[in-house]
Amino acid sequence: MTAIPAELEAALTGLAETEHLLVALDFDGTLAPFVDNPDDSRAIPEARQAVAALLEVSHTTVAYVSGRAIDSLQRVAGSADGILLVGSHGAEYRFDGVDTHPPLSEDERARVHTLSTALSSVSSAHPGTWVEAKPAGFALHTRGLSAEKERLAADAARDAVTKTRLPVTVRDGKDVLEFSILSVTKGDAIRHLRDYTGATAVLYAGDDVTDEDGFAALGAGDLALKCGEGETGAKYRVASPSEVAAVLARLAEDRAATGR
Ligand SMILES: [Mg+2]
Repeated sequence: MTAIPAELEAALTGLAETEHLLVALDFDGTLAPFVDNPDDSRAIPEARQAVAALLEVSHTTVAYVSGRAIDSLQRVAGSADGILLVGSHGAEYRFDGVDTHPPLSEDERARVHTLSTALSSVSSAHPGTWVEAKPAGFALHTRGLSAEKERLAADAARDAVTKTRLPVTVRDGKDVLEFSILSVTKGDAIRHLRDYTGATAVLYAGDDVTDEDGFAALGAGDLALKCGEGETGAKYRVASPSEVAAVLARLAEDRAATGR
């Protein structure tokens, strides 16, 4: 068992006393070590056990908050029953099997319309491609096309979207190119999760630069846990996913001990 620093241990004991606890966790690099093929990524067994223990405690919610697209997160999360999933840095939610996304502003709806027009004309000019509406954007599908035709269609789509001058996030997938106009962060995700669950305190753990937005959304009474090296606004730091797992196991134990 990994030793937990005394100051962090005391903070966990305090956190365990809260009425409704939200435990929000980044996935890759926090619960799962990095692997070459992103689809092979899995939470380490100790992390899975600790999450399962937290799910057993009443008035306690677990959420995974990842940069992965929601389907990819669902795949690597394995049995995620009872866990709230947030994908694409907060642009996609899957809560209890229901997919939603943050509401769009009027400006954002106008951008979606511009994007739709641009991609529809690309799709018409490249037979075999089709456009799928996504939360706050579109996916251009190229499945079944030759590599050369796929490349031409993808290049044309990138060009068309660049010409709109919209701030668009582009995501390259297998036989698909996704364009999203949302610029949400993990901080927005944490705020939404806090509202959704009615949490009275939040633990957020993450390892990457984008997790700093999550830490910044925390306040007094919450707990920010950085995993690994690098500058951070988080008050507490551990070295690895196995240490994150030890922290979560301790929190589950402390929380169960409060009689929940
Ligand atoms: Mg990460």
